[in-house]
Amino acid sequence: MKNGLIPALIVLFLFPIANASAQEVNIYSYRQPFLIDPITDKFTEETGIKVNIIYAKAGIAEKLEREGEYSPADLVLTSDFNRLVEITEKGLTQAVENKTLAQNIPAQYRDEQSHWFALTTRARVIYASKDRVEDAEDLSYEDLTGEKFKGKICVRSGKHPYNVSLIASMIAHHGEAETKQWLLKLKENLARKPQGNDRGQVMAIKEGVCDVSLGNSYYYGKMLMDEEQKPWADAVNIIFPNQQDRGAHINISGVAMAKYAPNKDNALALMAYLSSDKAQQLYASLNMEYPVNPKVEASELVQSWGCFKADSLPLTTIVQHRATAYKLLDQVKFDL
Ligand code: FE
Repeated sequence: MKNGLIPALIVLFLFPIANASAQEVNIYSYRQPFLIDPITDKFTEETGIKVNIIYAKAGIAEKLEREGEYSPADLVLTSDFNRLVEITEKGLTQAVENKTLAQNIPAQYRDEQSHWFALTTRARVIYASKDRVEDAEDLSYEDLTGEKFKGKICVRSGKHPYNVSLIASMIAHHGEAETKQWLLKLKENLARKPQGNDRGQVMAIKEGVCDVSLGNSYYYGKMLMDEEQKPWADAVNIIFPNQQDRGAHINISGVAMAKYAPNKDNALALMAYLSSDKAQQLYASLNMEYPVNPKVEASELVQSWGCFKADSLPLTTIVQHRATAYKLLDQVKFDL
C-alpha cells in the first residue's frame, strides 16, 4: 500500500505542473501574422502560454458556426468593426467581464454587453496627389462627388468592410436616399473599376491613373517604411476628411472571446495582454495604428501627421446601417 501511494502522490503533484507547461490558447485571426506573431510571441515569453493561430481572410464566422460547441477557438481577432459585430450578432461570442480590460479600454471602445473590445483605431482618410490636387486639406467625403474629380478617383471594392463601414456612416449622417446619390456620383467619378487594396490605390495615384483615393491611415506609415512603396506614399498627402464639420470616419480592430472557448482563463489573460501598454506599443509601432489604451501614444511617425477631429458618432450606431450599405452598393452596381 505504502509503496503504491508514493507514485500516486507524485503523479498527482506533477500533473498540474505538466499541465501548466502545456497551456495554450487558440486564435482565429483576420489580422495578419507580421503584426500578431510578434505580440503573441511576447505573451508566450512572459506567461509560458502557447498561442496557436489560424489566419484567415474571410469565413471565420462560418467556421465558428460549423464547428459549434466543438470549436477549438478561444479568441477571434478582427481588423474592422463589421466583422466583430457580425460574430457577436450571430451568437458566436461570450461576455467577458474583466477589470484590466475595463481599465485599459475606454467605454466607447468596448461593447456594453462586454462581448467585443477594440484594440486599435484608425481613420479612413483621403490620399491626394501632391502635384495634382490643390487645397486638399479641406476635403470631405462629400467633396469626392464633385465635378473636379471626374475620372480621378481610385478605390478598392465598395464591399470591403473598410468601405462598408464608411458608407454606413454616410447613411447614419445623411440618410439612405442621399447616400445612394453620393455612391452613384462617386462611382461616376472613378478612374477605373474598384479593385486591389488600399495601398494599390496610392500606387495608382503615383502612376497617374487617378488623383485621389480612400484608404486607412496606417497604410501611409506602412508605405513610408517600405522601400518599394515609399515613392507611392511620397506622391500623396494624407488628408483627414471633414475637419470642417463632423470629423473623419474611424474604424477599429478588436477582439472577442468565442462562445465555446476551451481555454477561457488563458484567453482572458491574452485579451488583457493585448490591451496592455506593451502590446499596445507594438500595435502602434508595427502597424502605425492608434492605440486604444489612452496611456499609450501613437508612434512618432503617426504623431507627425498631426491631430485630427474624429467623427464622434458611436460605431454601434454606424454599424446598424451596414445591411443598407450593402443594399445600396448592389443598387448602384458600385463594383461592376
Ligand atoms: Fe488593413
